Order: sequence, then C-alpha cells, then structure tokens
Amino acid sequence: PATETPAPAPARKRTRTDATPAATARDAYLAAMSAQDLPSLRNAIEAFEGCPLKRRARHTVIADGHPAARVMIVGEAPGAEEDRQGLPFVGQSGRLLDKALAAIGLHRGAEDPAKAVYITNIVFWRPPNNRTPTSEEMALLLPFTERHIALARPEVLFPLGNVACKSLLRTDTGIMKLRGRWANWRTSDGSFSVAALPSFHPSFLLRTPSAKRLFWEDLQSLRDRLREGSAGNG
Ligand code: URA
Repeated sequence: PATETPAPAPARKRTRTDATPAATARDAYLAAMSAQDLPSLRNAIEAFEGCPLKRRARHTVIADGHPAARVMIVGEAPGAEEDRQGLPFVGQSGRLLDKALAAIGLHRGAEDPAKAVYITNIVFWRPPNNRTPTSEEMALLLPFTERHIALARPEVLFPLGNVACKSLLRTDTGIMKLRGRWANWRTSDGSFSVAALPSFHPSFLLRTPSAKRLFWEDLQSLRDRLREGSAGNG
C-alpha cells in the first residue's frame, strides 16, 4: 500500500581504501597526550596502527635535527628518499632546504640549539606515489604534531607548503596569502603557543624558481625574529 513506510535502504558497504583511517583522531589524541616527552611521543607514533599509510611504508619518519632547536620546521609527508632513510627532508627538496637554512646560519646537524633546527612532517608515512595526504589522514595525525610541538617547545614554528600550513593553522586560506605573515599558533587546548611563519615548500621552489625571492624574504624575517628573540633573552 501507498501508506507503507519504505523499507530502510540497505546499509552501504564500506570499502576500506588507503584514505580510510582505521582509527579516529581521538585515538591519536589519547596516544599523543600520554607521551610526556619526545622519546615517548616517538614510541607512541611508531606504535600507532591507525593510519593505513603505515602498511605500505618502509619507515616511520618522525624527526631530524636538534630537539631543543629554537626553530621547528613542519613539512608535509615523507617522499621516496625519506621513506628509505627514515628521516625527513633528505631528498632533493631537503637539500634545497638545508642550503636555504645555511644562508641564515641554521643547520640541522648543529649541536648549538641556537644554530640548529628541528624538522618534522604532519604525516609520518609516505603516501603512495607521493600523493597529497588526504584531509582525513591529516586530521587523524594532527594530534601527534600538536603534541610534538608542545613537547619540543620551539621559539618559532616554520611550517612549509600549502598542505602543512593549512592543516596546522586550521585554515582554508591558501599559501600565497598565508606566507610571510607571522601568526600565533596554539595547541587545540591552548596550553602552548608559539609564533609561526608559514612559507613555501622547497619542492614548490624547485618547480617555481621565481618564488625563491619570496622564500628568501621569509627566511630573512625568520632570521630577524630570532635575532630579536636572542636580544630580548640576553
Ligand atoms: N617533503 C616533505 O614535506 N617532507 C619531507 O620530509 C620530504 C619532502
């Protein structure tokens, strides 16, 4: 009869793909918050099985450089070389990054925290074929990066590229508008805040050499900020 209520549609089968996280950001948040220092955060990330990207990756790529550095760099995701070595920014774009940092006296291998950098990515496993991380993957892993920043307590955050900047700064504004403008970044719970300078990703600079001029301006702005900071502290 026409008055009969229609039978409910059969539940749609969920197909699990690379982009379907097996855990929620809440799981990641609980795992991240249980870490009280950087070594235990590293263990928590390595033990996290909630991100399907991990299954295909050779290494979990977490960080490089000096954990006490004044500057913390946040990139996007490991590429082929990073996956092979288990370290962030060690491929072609990493070499460009190292060169650019050296121009303002910063080196990932420096023992002096004032001259060092600490480097991470918002995603810890290489996405297949270097595709852009999905918004689900980024949202899933963001609690780890927030905790990472809160535990490292850098003086300045230098997020690189459209993807990392938008995810970290929780904005839809694109990198062309974000870059070069200092922002105040804080953890979701407000317990830690830090000055952040969004800028271009080195792999974008490799494709778009004309953008190097603006990247250089950002590097100088970073250097000036560090100078002001050390003058204030000294
Ligand atoms: N690009 C990134 O964003 N991070 C890396 O570690 C390497 C390339």
